[in-house]
Amino acid sequence: MALRFYNTMARKKEVFKPQKGKRVSMYVCGITPYDASHLGHARCYITWDVLRRYLEFSGYQVTFIQNITDIDDKIIRRAHEQHLDPKTLSKKFSDQFESELARLRIKPADQYPKVTENIPAIISMIQQIIQHGMAYEQDGDVYFEVKKFKAYGTLSRQNLNDLIQGKRVEHGEKKRHPEDFALWKQAKPGEPFWKSPWGNGRPGWHIECSAMSTKYLGNQFDIHAGGQDLIFPHHENEIAQSEAASQKKPFVRYWLHNGFVTVEKDKMAKSAGNFMTIHEALQIHSPQSIRYFILSTHYRHPLDYSEKALEQSKRSLESIYNAIDRLEKTMKKQTVNADSLNGPVEMRLQAFIHAMDDDLNTPLAIAALFQLRDYAFQQLEAFQKTKTSDTLLSLYEAHRTLVQLMDVLGLQQQTKTKASVSKEIKEQIEARERARKNKDFKKADAIRNELLQKGVVLEDTPEGIQWRSDS
Ligand SMILES: [Zn+2]
Repeated sequence: MALRFYNTMARKKEVFKPQKGKRVSMYVCGITPYDASHLGHARCYITWDVLRRYLEFSGYQVTFIQNITDIDDKIIRRAHEQHLDPKTLSKKFSDQFESELARLRIKPADQYPKVTENIPAIISMIQQIIQHGMAYEQDGDVYFEVKKFKAYGTLSRQNLNDLIQGKRVEHGEKKRHPEDFALWKQAKPGEPFWKSPWGNGRPGWHIECSAMSTKYLGNQFDIHAGGQDLIFPHHENEIAQSEAASQKKPFVRYWLHNGFVTVEKDKMAKSAGNFMTIHEALQIHSPQSIRYFILSTHYRHPLDYSEKALEQSKRSLESIYNAIDRLEKTMKKQTVNADSLNGPVEMRLQAFIHAMDDDLNTPLAIAALFQLRDYAFQQLEAFQKTKTSDTLLSLYEAHRTLVQLMDVLGLQQQTKTKASVSKEIKEQIEARERARKNKDFKKADAIRNELLQKGVVLEDTPEGIQWRSDS
């Protein structure tokens, strides 16, 4: 089966064919850094990170761009409330976001363009739209004239007449028609502004993504992804602006959208006040548990947040890490020469690929990982009994494939060697082993729990005690 994605534009799964052979151009709408990012954001960026990793795993070369909206109404308002310069406020939250992305093992984008650093590209795109007769200036503002763009509403499956029904231009608004949207806004007193052919002002929100995506990826590119709440009006407007400016269709070949994170079935949102920030989540859970939790539901479905689900994710991950550790320990003393996969491993690898090819079905891909883990355990037992070179080869292949596929999902474990932990922890591990040998299980358990508090996980396996740091 070929790689297929659910294209929001087509409302169905389509075979993925990039414009240029094995090169993929990809854009994801970034954050507006006016507050801490929450698990809804984590889901979005982890999902598209896995898409990017999987494309790379499948042999594609990916150029990945993600913008930062470092000036907008919310930033200006929040900065004003906190008596901060908007730039200082947006920098604080975008720096925080950047370090959270790194902790969540999200591979960095090739570029993180910022609005304030791309004003000339934005102005020139607005000028092109005006030249093509689809935007007008009105008293220092510039608006996109929606009626002029025949395909408006195609992505969100809305009819222009339905959209404008009952709407009118409100008193004090400068636009000609209620459906028109701002490309450029005249500066209000006390707001940051840039010089433009229409006077001092700043860009509307939607234009930045059109200007910055095409600046780095060209007028037409392969994948545009984001949360499903962006389909309308943001992505609809991006299409209108980009195609009006370049006169080329389609602006984007594949539109991909991820679902919401819900809390007891309500959407997690700043406005609803029911959100957990990434920062808070990382204080209680490991980055891998958060990733696993997010990937255990298909990206287009709603994902319901609960502590129980996160705990379950942690335990599931542990069992795969445990398998990898045991394989490593057994293989350490052996030498293996192999580069071709044997049948049983290949079969499970193909199950993983088949799931991911089908619109990134991560829950099924994870199920394939567990099958591989089970196979690894069987082979481990067989090897311990027979010590044949065939079973050793199977162990080697199962291990290599397990590690590789965990990496595709960004779930690889962070192992610390004994040498890198403090002397105190080393002593505790030894004390626990002594307690176990003396059959003082109460004491052994107490030490284990103390270590757990410090983020050190101990596991007793047939090969002896294994441990790792969970941070
Ligand atoms: Zn955008």
